[in-house]
Amino acid sequence: MGTEEMTPVNADASEELYLDHNATTPMRPEAVEAMLRWLGRPANPSSVHAVGARAKQAVDSAREQVAALIGARPSEIVFTSGATEANNLALRNAPVRLFLVSALEHPSVLKTAKSLAVTGHSTVVVPPEPNGRVEASAMLSAASNDPALLSLMLANNETGVLNDVAAVGAGRPTGSFVHTDATQAAGRVPVDVDELRVDLLSLSAHKFGGPQGVGVLYVRRGIMLDSHAQTGGGQERERRGGTLNVAGIVGAGAAAMAAARALDTDAPRLRTIRDRFERVVLAAGLHAIVIGADSPRITNTSLIAIPGAPADAVMAGTPQLAMSHGSACSAGAPGPSHVLRAMHVPDALADSALRVTFGPVNTLTDADAAAAAIVASATRVLNHARKDLGGVA
Ligand code: PMP
Repeated sequence: MGTEEMTPVNADASEELYLDHNATTPMRPEAVEAMLRWLGRPANPSSVHAVGARAKQAVDSAREQVAALIGARPSEIVFTSGATEANNLALRNAPVRLFLVSALEHPSVLKTAKSLAVTGHSTVVVPPEPNGRVEASAMLSAASNDPALLSLMLANNETGVLNDVAAVGAGRPTGSFVHTDATQAAGRVPVDVDELRVDLLSLSAHKFGGPQGVGVLYVRRGIMLDSHAQTGGGQERERRGGTLNVAGIVGAGAAAMAAARALDTDAPRLRTIRDRFERVVLAAGLHAIVIGADSPRITNTSLIAIPGAPADAVMAGTPQLAMSHGSACSAGAPGPSHVLRAMHVPDALADSALRVTFGPVNTLTDADAAAAAIVASATRVLNHARKDLGGVA
């Protein structure tokens, strides 16, 4: 590994600034330390000997730590390889034939629901309001007498907009199930499965300071899921076969505990940083627009568009900023993201949307540096465009 790759993120703010925490987060030191104790050791929690028992103990305490982050019981936690797998398990194993999913969902929900048409499932996609929220009433009015799985994400990965999942949980028709993808919310806002009244909830550890490749499906006690989506060993109470990733799970547990402890300080601090960033860009006279600003949002996320300055061009002028153009998950796909399309954001505006997502490592100085660099780059792009049109720069 080269020395460049070893440099800690944000070690030198004058060089690289990591502002893409909705794509992935740096691991919390507690998680790194916990994992290092397990990396390289033989650790199969299913083994009956003392070595296996110690691994099982470590997984059990990680299960308690993750459960505490979302107000669940440890027995309701199923460890997976990430939120993608958790979402797949939730949809593929739900004992229903009908999915009511929001148009904002991650592809691991939307594509999975649609792909199950081959097994006779039908899917209703519920659109958001232009403010980026999917109204609970819209989700509920799409329901019929058929038992359904209603899936509405808690926070959107592109806009950061929060949905009223609790209202869906409270209003769900009898015999239906409620799933929420809380991947971008956990560790950023309080998440409690009982307050949300959900049956199923997905998480991904690397979004809250844990390692990549570890996720969680919360399954409320008493919910009988099918188990055909992944057959194998009897791990995770037959709900997810496969040898457990002990080091990763231990890291996820430590990260969950650290994120829960820091939530009360991290969330308002990030709001101050994010708001300062937005204030500076908005005040620059470039007619910038914050997408989703009228809705409640997680405090770290800013989706900001400068009309006439395509995001790709602005980003080419800010190589020191690690940020996204729309969703990292759909990066590479041409055209606006499915989220911005569903919100009816005009294509030209969507094309200029920059996603800047802060994390606990960031500071107000980072907010100022990012805002100044973006404003300078966008100004250059706009001036070039004016020159190309024969105007005065
Ligand atoms: N859901 C949401 C809302 C996400 O943002 C992501 C990651 N971008 C996922 C699911 C998938 O997570 P993972 O890639 O860790 O499985």
